[in-house]
Amino acid sequence: MKYEAVIGLEVHAQMLTDAKIFCGCSTKFGSEPNTQTCPVCIGMPGVLPVLNKKALEFAIKTGLSMNCNISQYSRFARKNYFYPDLPKGYQISQYELPICEKGYIEIIVEGEVKKIGITRIHIEEDAGKNIHGEDGNYSFVDLNRAGVPLMEIVSEPDIRSPREAVEFMKKLRTILRYLGVSDGNMEQGSLRCDANVSVRPIGQKEYGTRTEVKNINSFRFVEKALDYEIKRQIKVLEEGRKIIQETRLWDSDKGITESMRGKEEAHDYRYFPEPDLVPIMVDQRWIDEIRKSLPELPDIKRKRFVSECSLPDYDADFLTSERQLADWFEEAVKLGGQPKIVANWILGDLLRLLNEENKSIEESPLKPKQLVGMLRLIENGTISGKIAKTVFSEMYKTGRDAEIIVKEKGLLQISDKGEIDILIDEVIAKHPKEVERFKSGEEKLLGFFVGQVMKLTKGKANPQMVNEILKKKLSH
Ligand code: ADP
Ligand code: ZN
Ligand code: MG
Repeated sequence: MKYEAVIGLEVHAQMLTDAKIFCGCSTKFGSEPNTQTCPVCIGMPGVLPVLNKKALEFAIKTGLSMNCNISQYSRFARKNYFYPDLPKGYQISQYELPICEKGYIEIIVEGEVKKIGITRIHIEEDAGKNIHGEDGNYSFVDLNRAGVPLMEIVSEPDIRSPREAVEFMKKLRTILRYLGVSDGNMEQGSLRCDANVSVRPIGQKEYGTRTEVKNINSFRFVEKALDYEIKRQIKVLEEGRKIIQETRLWDSDKGITESMRGKEEAHDYRYFPEPDLVPIMVDQRWIDEIRKSLPELPDIKRKRFVSECSLPDYDADFLTSERQLADWFEEAVKLGGQPKIVANWILGDLLRLLNEENKSIEESPLKPKQLVGMLRLIENGTISGKIAKTVFSEMYKTGRDAEIIVKEKGLLQISDKGEIDILIDEVIAKHPKEVERFKSGEEKLLGFFVGQVMKLTKGKANPQMVNEILKKKLSH
């Protein structure tokens, strides 16, 4: 039997507000434990929370960017559970009335655009962090993170493969980063993902029983954990057993998921409306204002890059995955670079060089203006495309302009017919056997001769001229 996977993700994103969600404490990461706390976020009796308006604005921004309806009336709920990192004994969250509902985002899978539904986005507070002493005798609690604002973004079960799940997470992260509402860093825990997954025989309408996989903290693990869990479920079914609805933990060292606990139901949490906070009523005018303030979003930018610049979908998708990357590209095009050529240089050499040093595009020592300067030298025949590679890395290394590098390093293209004639004669004289074979019909050997001339000139010969002259001389 053939099976297909059904996946829905619950994603938590820490918001980039300066202050916590219900008090004025700082959200700065990495400070001494418990230095960013106050009676509100450590849950002292008698205190009252006050909503940070910025957190609400960020959630609305996100909802609008993901095509959601923004609720003009929503409210907070208490989610009750006991854990040492949760000093109040409940988390302030949203339950039956979230701030955003019914949206979608687009991902690209195998060249096709696919919509993934967003069920809801709600706001809530983060918990603190337990730190376990190495000797096993003590555990510590750091409440700096308690009360940091989170968004929980829940997807519809529209995802059909681990690959799609990764694309979904990436797109989500891209949007959050465009908006500046979260840094979307999975490794540092500011973006976290719980994956709900089930399998069903292809053709069956009803969903199978699902498990929820927790503790997935990188894009790579999203794919690995889901791969593992899907295979495990199929095996269970093929052996005639049943899937147990449960919460499972991804163990990245072992590369497996393990049963953690039975699935909790909503009623286990005794949700009830938060009595310490008034319901949230947002004015349509404010929503409109926020909508107007949105940047051009990645999907729209991607489509524009395709229609205005005739870029292939893949290039457009990649270039719009970070706002700064898209800006770099657009600046180069504005300065006269040909879009597809600019894209090739960015996606090829530039990203490779940046990755080698773990740098982001903003940190690139090579600026759009310099790339365009170099492209001009190729266009007007000053340097060959091959030499351009050398010039490019030299520009990257030194931050200097192409023209200066070409002059200093003597990289000018050889376009002098007389000079090329001599070089070609030399190559032909050296390879009589190949000449013989070429003349008896082995035309693909032309590439060999071009290669020899290029080697002789360290890539500086004008390839077009070399080609033409070679063809003439060899066909005599
Ligand atoms: P909870 O986790 O609190 O039970 P929901 O029941 O709303 O919340 O579902 C959470 C997530 O599980 C959603 O992302 C949803 O798309 C996904 N989901 C629901 N049913 C299935 C299923 N049968 N297979 C895979 N994912 C599912
Ligand atoms: Zn506080
Ligand atoms: Mg869940």
